[in-house]
Amino acid sequence: MTITRFAPSPTGELHLGHAHSALFAFAEARKAQGRFLLRIEDIDRTRCRPEFTQGIFEDLAWLGLEWERPVRIQSEHFDDYRAALDRLDSLGLLYPCFCTRKDIAREVDGAGHAPHGPDGPLYPGHCRHLSASERAERTASGQPFALRLDMAEASRRAGPLSWRDRERGEQAARPELFGDVVLARKDTPASYHLAVTVDDALQGVTLVTRGVDLFEATHVHRLLQALLDLPTPGYAHHRLLTDEHGRRYAKRDRSLTLRALRDAGRTPQEVRALAGF
Ligand code: GLU
Ligand code: ZN
Repeated sequence: MTITRFAPSPTGELHLGHAHSALFAFAEARKAQGRFLLRIEDIDRTRCRPEFTQGIFEDLAWLGLEWERPVRIQSEHFDDYRAALDRLDSLGLLYPCFCTRKDIAREVDGAGHAPHGPDGPLYPGHCRHLSASERAERTASGQPFALRLDMAEASRRAGPLSWRDRERGEQAARPELFGDVVLARKDTPASYHLAVTVDDALQGVTLVTRGVDLFEATHVHRLLQALLDLPTPGYAHHRLLTDEHGRRYAKRDRSLTLRALRDAGRTPQEVRALAGF
């Protein structure tokens, strides 16, 4: 049974790029007579807003999509992410990072040639070297901290891993490209990588479909699956829709939100065609 999902973050209105992604997941489920799920990725309480979540439901229904209820709302499941963090912590794979953005920028600059990953410069590892007593002291004094994955240790523990992209075939997992990723943030007790991996497993997703901009992120997700004993779904990373100038659709393109197109009198069928379906 094929189970797909669309997992938007309610940080703004949906645009044509989102429509492509949602229709892609929906079509894959339909083709296989499978199931299509929706998940609201709203762990970032500073950027996500309930009115955008409402707008997502309206836009998708208007486009003609149908999804199963209940919708999984990530902000209602922090205990699931906590349980995953506890497990990784019990394996000795997490450490608290007290660095501010400024601290990290300074350290990266100081290093001269800090290696870069898909999300920017890699964390140079300052807090990985703190002593147990230093960690205890800073935690006890109430200093905020993020939790990072000790990537070298985690990769060693998991051993060589692979995953399969439907278009590009078998991929050797290279999570080390990302360095010591953050799995829980100072202001949010989870991160994208953690929540998406846990939820795809909990929801029984068998085919993860998403934009090719998240292709590399899958390396990290594959590692987390191995460490947390979760199944590995198949993956299909789709092309990113671009405007007539070849630029990716983004939140800045107000005129190309689904809401604006609808208000301008476009029909759902026309908008599906604009989104490549
Ligand atoms: N919430 C993510 C986004 O809107 C997508 C997550 C995923 O499909 O893995 O970019
Ligand atoms: Zn740090």
